[in-house]
Amino acid sequence: MRVAFIGLGDIGSLIASHLARDPFSLTVWNRTASKARDFAAAYPARVASSAAEAARGAEVVVTCLPSSAEVEAVLHGEEGMLEALERGAVLLDCTSGDPPTSRSIAAELSRRGVGFIDAPVSGGTTAARSGTLTIMWGGEEADFERVRPVIEAFGKKIVHAGPVGAGDALKAVNNALLAVHILSTGEGLAVLVKAGVDPTIALDVINASSGRSNTSENLIPQRVLTRAFPRTFRLALLDKDIGIAEALATELGMQTPVLSLVAKRLHQARSALGEEVDHVEAVKMIEAENDVVIQ
Ligand code: NDP
Repeated sequence: MRVAFIGLGDIGSLIASHLARDPFSLTVWNRTASKARDFAAAYPARVASSAAEAARGAEVVVTCLPSSAEVEAVLHGEEGMLEALERGAVLLDCTSGDPPTSRSIAAELSRRGVGFIDAPVSGGTTAARSGTLTIMWGGEEADFERVRPVIEAFGKKIVHAGPVGAGDALKAVNNALLAVHILSTGEGLAVLVKAGVDPTIALDVINASSGRSNTSENLIPQRVLTRAFPRTFRLALLDKDIGIAEALATELGMQTPVLSLVAKRLHQARSALGEEVDHVEAVKMIEAENDVVIQ
């Protein structure tokens, strides 16, 4: 099966690594060409000179880009994929995108006989490396059947969320909840440290009690207490995700004041800490504001 992969970033490169083997014949393209060359040095893959060249002749084109705006850009920009996508091909978009743009892309591709599936992933770089991502997809069953072998190569829990855009919506809300957990757990632990409680003892209790979450069980112990803060998922991307969740709530005319506040705080953290830091580093904003270190 001829597969093209566009976007070899933190998670994209790990997803693509599962497609560089039989029964797939993989072509990759990345904006920064050196990353594509490095990938092809490590895995059997052909490097294309443009997104269009990668897409030409592919049965499935996978995109894994920061947001739907960049998916639009690689479709419509100079040397974009739109004209190169063949009738009968499917664009499998693993970007955590936004529902309105995904619907518009799907409609445009459909007029050209090309399928579209929004297929955001969760599980982070650990699950991407082991090929056990959770995939929430939106779109038509017939298109899914054409990309099934590709999705199964890197996914373990694969769930149909609904029509095009439903995967994006589910992913945005999941990540909005992740942002809630990071900021609320960070604030709670900052208070406890100031009050003289050892954060390791605090987490021992919280993780046996009702305040626990993946953030308290894994992210804070492994990344904050150790001060390791590995970069696996950029804070800027989490900020983008909660923005998508907020826009969805607004589109539906809903009141979501908790999400709005967390979105505002995450945006502040992004402004203060920059585009390249990891998402868990948002707790550094809370530490700085309160002159405390969670350690
Ligand atoms: P990165 O920021 O690490 O990588 C982004 C990729 O997109 C790079 O290959 C980059 O190219 C490319 N890109 C950026 N802008 C453009 C553009 N204008 N035109 C063409 N290519 C462009 O992101 P991740 O790999 O971490 O994330 C990708 C998607 O997956 C995001 O939607 C994210 O929210 C989602 N996701 C990420 C997870 C993670 O743990 N990292 C977990 C779950 C979902 P270049 O190398 O040139 O910069």
